Amino acid sequence: MTNVSEKSKLTTYGNIINGQSVQAQDGAVSNSIDPSTAEVWATIPSSKKEDAEWVVQAARAAFDDWANLPARTRGDYLRKIGDMIPEYAAELLELETRNNGWVLDEYQYLAEVLKQVWYDAAGAASLVGAQGRTVQMGTGDFGFTSRKPYGVVVGILPWNAPLFTFTIKAAYALAAGNTVIIKPSESAAVGSLRYGELISHILPPGVLNVISGAGREIGDYLVSHKEVNKVSLTGSKATAERITKATAHSPKSLIFELGGKSPNIVFEDADIDQAVHGLINGIFTPNSGQICVAGSRMLIQRSIYDEVIGRLKELMTDNEFVKHGDTLDTNNTMGPIANEAQYQSVCGFIDEASKEGYEVVFGGKYGGEAVLPGQPEFADGYWVQPTLVKVADNSSKLAHEEIFGPVAVAIPFDTEDEAIQIANDTNFGLAAGVWTQNLSLAHRMIDKLQAGNVWVNTYARVGADLPFSGVKESGYGTDSVLDYTVEKACVINIR
Ligand code: NAD
Repeated sequence: MTNVSEKSKLTTYGNIINGQSVQAQDGAVSNSIDPSTAEVWATIPSSKKEDAEWVVQAARAAFDDWANLPARTRGDYLRKIGDMIPEYAAELLELETRNNGWVLDEYQYLAEVLKQVWYDAAGAASLVGAQGRTVQMGTGDFGFTSRKPYGVVVGILPWNAPLFTFTIKAAYALAAGNTVIIKPSESAAVGSLRYGELISHILPPGVLNVISGAGREIGDYLVSHKEVNKVSLTGSKATAERITKATAHSPKSLIFELGGKSPNIVFEDADIDQAVHGLINGIFTPNSGQICVAGSRMLIQRSIYDEVIGRLKELMTDNEFVKHGDTLDTNNTMGPIANEAQYQSVCGFIDEASKEGYEVVFGGKYGGEAVLPGQPEFADGYWVQPTLVKVADNSSKLAHEEIFGPVAVAIPFDTEDEAIQIANDTNFGLAAGVWTQNLSLAHRMIDKLQAGNVWVNTYARVGADLPFSGVKESGYGTDSVLDYTVEKACVINIR
C-alpha cells in the first residue's frame, strides 16, 4: 500500500517514437492529474502535428520488415511481451490507478488478462497465414485468398481502460503484421507511455509507437493521414462521428467500440442474492461506473422490485462494502471519477434527478467533502457517491443518455415482452445482462436483445476467448487478429 503523500512525486513521461522516448518537438507538456486529489502527479508530451507526422513516418518505415517476418517470429516477439508483464505489472497497475482513479484492488486481475492477450496474439500470428481460402471458379480459373496486414494501424484509447484497450488493439494488429501507433487519451496517457516504452525494448524500432496529445490536435491528423490504413477507436460516439468525417477524403478501414446504455434485467425467478451482486458489479464497483458495458439500466420485475431495491440499498450504504479513499490502498472498493470534465457531467445527471423529482434510493451526493467527510486530502478530488434513481419507465434522459459514472436507474417491468421492449428502447446496443433460472426464458432473451454481448447469470464477462463488439450506435468491428487483415483475392487463369 502507498499512502497519499508518496503520490506527490512528479515524473515526466515521453512519447515512444521509433524505439526512443522523446518529448514533443516544441517541448510542450500537459499535466496528468490524480482524480482522487486533483493534484498534478506527472507530465506528458502535448504533441503537435509535426510529432504526429514523425510517428506516422516511423511506423511506415518499419512496416515492410515487420510484415515480411515469418509469422512465427512475430509470435515470438509478442510472447516475449507477455513474459515481461508480470515483472512490471505492479508499476503499470499503479500508473493506471493514478491515471484514472480505478481502485487498485479492482485492477489486480488485469495483469493476468494483459499477459494472456499477448500470448493469444502470439499464437494467432502463426495461424493467420493459414486463413486463406481456395475458391472453385469453374473450368480454367483458380481462385484463392490470402490474409494481408493493412499497413499502419492507429489505435485510439479512452481514459477509462487504457492498458486493456492498448493491449487488445496492439497485440492483434501486430500479430497480423501491421505496425502500430497508439494514441492514449490526454486525460490518462501515463500508463500507456510507460507500457509502450517497455514494449519498445522488445520490438524492432518503429513497430509499436505511442504518442500523447489532444484528440482534435493530433487525432484528426493521424486518422486522416494517407499513410495510415486502419483506425480502431474505443471511445464516444461523438469522436466516432469526427473520425468518420475526417476520413471521408481518404477512406480507411474503421473499428468503432463506442458507448452503451446497457440493461441488466432481473426476472422474479432469479437467485436474488446472485442478481443483486450482479447489478452492483455491473455498474458501481468496477471503476465507479466508468465502463462501456455498465449495466446502467436495472430492469427489475415488479413482483420483486421492492425486495431487490431494498437489498441493493442495504449493501450500497454499508461502509464496509462501499469504501472510498486512497485508490492505491487495496482496502478501498470505490474510486473517483477519472477527470474533471467527466465529473461535472456525472454531477449534472445527479442534479437532473433531483430537478425532475425522482426518488434517489441511495447516494446522490458528490464532492470530496460530501463523499469523504473529515479527509481533507481528498477534498478537491472528483468523488461521486454510487447513486440509484427510481424511474417509472424508460422515457427519462437518465434512462437514455450514457452517464459513464456510478449512477443507475431502476425501472420496473411486468412481462417478458415489456422487458424486451424497454431493454431495446435505446440507440445503443453494446451489452445486456439477464438473471433467471429459466433456461428457455434466457434463450428467448438472448435471441431478442439488441446487443453485441449478452450475459446470463453473470455480467461483463469479456476475454480474449470471445469477440467483443456492439450493434446500433455502440459501433462495429472487433479487435481481433482477422479484423486487422485484408482478405486479398487472386484468380489464376490456368486454361
Ligand atoms: P472520447 O471519445 O472522448 O475520447 C477517446 C479518444 O479519442 C481519446 O484518446 C481522444 O483524445 C480521442 N479523440 C478525440 N477527438 C478525436 C479526433 N477528432 N480524432 C481522433 N481522436 C480523437 O472518449 P472517452 O471520454 O475517453 O471515453 C469514454 C467513452 O468510451 C464512453 O463513451 C465509453 O462508453 C467508451 N468506451 C467504449 C468501450 C468499448 O469497448 N465499447 C470501452 C471503453 C470505453
